[in-house]
Amino acid sequence: MSRAGRRAEWDSPVRSARFVDANREQALERIGIVTVGDLVTHWPFRYLDLTTTLPLSRVKQGDEVTVTGVVRRVQKKQPRPRLNIVEVAITDDTGSLLGVWFNQPYMADRFLEGERVAFAGKVELDFGMHRMTAPFVEKLGAPGAPQEPGRVLPVHRSTEGLTINWLRRLVAAATDDYADVPDFLPVKTRLARDLMSLRAAIRSMHFPSSLVEARTARRRLAYEELLCLQLGLLMRHHSSRDGRPGHVHRTDGAALRALCDVVPFDLTGDQSVAVRDILDDLASPRPMNRLLLGDVGTGKTVVAAHALAAVADSGTQAAMMAPTEVLAVQYAEKVGPLLDDMGVSWRLLTGSTLAAERSDILHEVESGGVAVLFGTHALIEGGVTFAKLTLAVVDEQHRFGVQQRLALRRKGEAVDMLVMTATPIPRSLALTRFGDLDTSYLRECPHSSAASRSTTRLVDRHHRGDAYDAVRAAVERGRQAYVVCPLVDESDAIQARSALKEAERLTSEVFSDLSVGVLTGKMKSAERLDVMRRFRSGELDVLVSTTVIEVGVDVPNATVMIIEDAERFGLAQLHQLRGRVGRGEYPGEVYLFADPKTDVGRARMEAIVGSRDGFALAEEDLRLRGPGQLLGVAQHGLPELGVASLIDDAELLECARCDAAGMLAADPGLERAEHRPLWREVRSRFAGADGWMESG
Ligand code: ADP
Ligand code: MG
Repeated sequence: MSRAGRRAEWDSPVRSARFVDANREQALERIGIVTVGDLVTHWPFRYLDLTTTLPLSRVKQGDEVTVTGVVRRVQKKQPRPRLNIVEVAITDDTGSLLGVWFNQPYMADRFLEGERVAFAGKVELDFGMHRMTAPFVEKLGAPGAPQEPGRVLPVHRSTEGLTINWLRRLVAAATDDYADVPDFLPVKTRLARDLMSLRAAIRSMHFPSSLVEARTARRRLAYEELLCLQLGLLMRHHSSRDGRPGHVHRTDGAALRALCDVVPFDLTGDQSVAVRDILDDLASPRPMNRLLLGDVGTGKTVVAAHALAAVADSGTQAAMMAPTEVLAVQYAEKVGPLLDDMGVSWRLLTGSTLAAERSDILHEVESGGVAVLFGTHALIEGGVTFAKLTLAVVDEQHRFGVQQRLALRRKGEAVDMLVMTATPIPRSLALTRFGDLDTSYLRECPHSSAASRSTTRLVDRHHRGDAYDAVRAAVERGRQAYVVCPLVDESDAIQARSALKEAERLTSEVFSDLSVGVLTGKMKSAERLDVMRRFRSGELDVLVSTTVIEVGVDVPNATVMIIEDAERFGLAQLHQLRGRVGRGEYPGEVYLFADPKTDVGRARMEAIVGSRDGFALAEEDLRLRGPGQLLGVAQHGLPELGVASLIDDAELLECARCDAAGMLAADPGLERAEHRPLWREVRSRFAGADGWMESG
């Protein structure tokens, strides 16, 4: 965590702190403590609450508790050649408890009979005796030392060569000497949110007198992190607008009215709200920077179509970019006819567009003869010049890099951006990862009846036959099926090979009477499109595929999906995959081939079987796997969160978001006297993280 600029002394080498000699300096460096500030902000990772320790006679099996007692007996046992057990019995006036360590014989030497210790851990019951396996140990006093009154002991992460007690002493000294720093949070904010001052929070975080006090301190420190993050993101967002006003679009034109007539269904409530949000953005001179988050099948495309119509009505141009050719072609096939009916001109440009056609298209786009251009990465190539591009829509945005999105945006001036994703990102993560974007959510699914009758089953290796039977039964009813091959981390090539092999196996051994096709990311695009066309037309019964189908493919007649090695996928990704079936009038059947070996693995499989709510699943994945894994990317470009947690502090994050927006509305550059210290803090925190100038 960068603390530069808060206070000069915090930047001085940790060696200058009290009690830090050369040896301790080295040990501290091993745990990343280099400056005085690092030491002051080396927060405890847990507390031992000795103010409320239970008498030993009152502990119960399953309790997670801290207990204290006097060491009565230390015993080493070796019931089997490879098994060492150390047992340490402690007692108080009411009873006794055993601490047990397996294969850590040195633990026997850590205890002295007669000394007072605290054990923290989970209480187990073993042959009528309460015990804890490898509890956390805190020494409370040498034999005969007077018993101290109850207190809360912080536990800081330490390292070899530096005992917890010594580290605690170093932190205490540093806190005494250096924690007296001015608070960069405006007093008004602190009062409004009922937050401790910085200096009080530092002290209470390290040495609280109760767990409640520690929580209050933590709340303050988490809030300041989240506030700085939101301020940084929002300021970055504003600076990306570059001061240039965006195009003011017409939102009451003929094409938009016509769209309402040609769309064959009513919009869901969420879709209507999102359309409203987007049209408001388009009508305003403030360039749009909006993220449309909607689970698979919630109908993002038709929402985007409204934006395209408004652009056509305004006499300017829109580009809509998809990460794959299959998807770009799908726009052309689904949205194109609507645009035709509305009298809006459009073209499709991809990597496989023939040269002659391509030069026609480029000419029309440059002369302004085309209002809407669909396509793939081909859109951001050098040769593509727009007469007046005012809207860029990027679908499945997580498949594109920041640079690619920027490249599309740079095809015009102050272009309105609409990015769409089906990755159901929890709001807390969206606010931190994409905090510089406005968001619209689609939660309802228009086909909820078919989707809600869809099923997901977990299948172990012995019951694969059931899933194959289900495929066959579906095909007999005229439906189709997907078989999704395992993710292979190493390379696309390996994944593609395994898909080919699986297709061969299925063709020769399982579905010899059905027509089976293969789709991999390694295939030439013409070949890929041909396979998709044959699957869509019903010529293929079964499509064996790598995860390329995750993205946006819409074949309502496909009702069964088998996913191999399901535990290797993220929940969000599994959810997206299974959203490919049960899209039409028929419910989907999803079979997850999985053999989870860990508790987390099992919990994740249970979650996906038990829930159809993509956002709930994303929250669950966030909880089980942590934020880094969920998106499959590090949160690059953003300062790290040291105290705040996206899982536990979702509400605090909303407060910080709201406060940051309020401050910037009143004082966009944070230039007022009461905001200046905060601005310095934000700048220093973002200084360590790259990408301050980049815009999502
Ligand atoms: P996604 O959000 O996954 O991109 P799509 O835009 O591909 O979803 O829409 C999925 C399907 O739902 C499409 O066939 C689309 O025509 C249909 N659809 C979209 N909105 C509605 C609605 N309000 N009522 C009925 N069907 C809809
Ligand atoms: Mg889509």
